[in-house]
Amino acid sequence: MGGEHAERCAWCQAHDREVVGLLGKRLGKHARRVLLDATPPGEIPSPILPDGPSQPSQTATRRAVAALREAKLIWVPEEKERIDRTHANLAELVTVLNRQYAVLRFASRTDLGEAVVQVFAAELACGGRLRWGIKLEELAAATLARCPYR
Ligand SMILES: [Zn+2]
Repeated sequence: MGGEHAERCAWCQAHDREVVGLLGKRLGKHARRVLLDATPPGEIPSPILPDGPSQPSQTATRRAVAALREAKLIWVPEEKERIDRTHANLAELVTVLNRQYAVLRFASRTDLGEAVVQVFAAELACGGRLRWGIKLEELAAATLARCPYR
C-alpha cells in the first residue's frame, strides 16, 4: 500500500501497521464521541469532556480515552488543567459536574485518527458499524497521504 515512497519510509510503514492494528477493534459510543470532539492533528488539543456528570459517564469517558490512545487514534498531552467555577469558558462544566473543580485532559486526533474520521464519517455520524476490513486500503491510503516526509 502507498507505492514506492511508502516502502522506504519509516513513518508510512509504522502507520501502515497501525491501520492493520485496527482490524477487529470496536469503538463504542464514548470513544466515537471523544474522537469526534478531539481537534484535528496539529491544532491545539481540545478538552476531553464526559457526556454527563455521573460517575459511570466519567468512567466510560476515561476508558474511551485509554482505548483511543492504545489504538493510536488520539494524542493526549501530559499537561492537565484545573478548572474551577471562575474559569472563563468551562465554569459551567464544573457546575454540571457538581464539583468545586475539575481536572481536564486534552486531546487531538493523530493522523490515523483523522483518516478514520474522514473514511468512516457516515458510520461515525449515525452509529454504524466500523467495517475496517472492507475499507482497509482506503484507510491506509488516507493515512499515508498525511505523511510529512513525502
Ligand atoms: Zn512516508
